[in-house]
Amino acid sequence: MENKNMESNSLILVAEDEEYNYLYLDELLNKLGLKHIQAKDGQAAIDICRENENVTLVLMDIKMPVIDGYTAAQKIKEFSPKIPIIAQSAYALEHEREKFRDVFDDYLAKPINKEIFLMTLRKFINIQNGY
Ligand SMILES: [Mg+2]
Repeated sequence: MENKNMESNSLILVAEDEEYNYLYLDELLNKLGLKHIQAKDGQAAIDICRENENVTLVLMDIKMPVIDGYTAAQKIKEFSPKIPIIAQSAYALEHEREKFRDVFDDYLAKPINKEIFLMTLRKFINIQNGY
């Protein structure tokens, strides 16, 4: 049994406070035909996940206002333990990655390489076409 979500019924939450970074991911997700919404801070990310049972994956920036991405991910996992949450961070140090492993399902280092981005999404969502 395939239990990954099909791309057509996937909704990706992009938690990202910097517009330039969001627009880059927006462009990649549009090319892949993946529906997505933005949260501009950690609290908004928590609220959106709580209110939308159809959010199938979260891309979580770490440095965000109100509540940081690490804390937001912990809170989301409390009420939605199965939702995949991928950290996206400029922190590339191994000890930072290690710290992220207990709460995040995967990790993307900024600047995000678009092929690595697609490979990482494919671990969680069925995506038929590339860019
Ligand atoms: Mg940020």
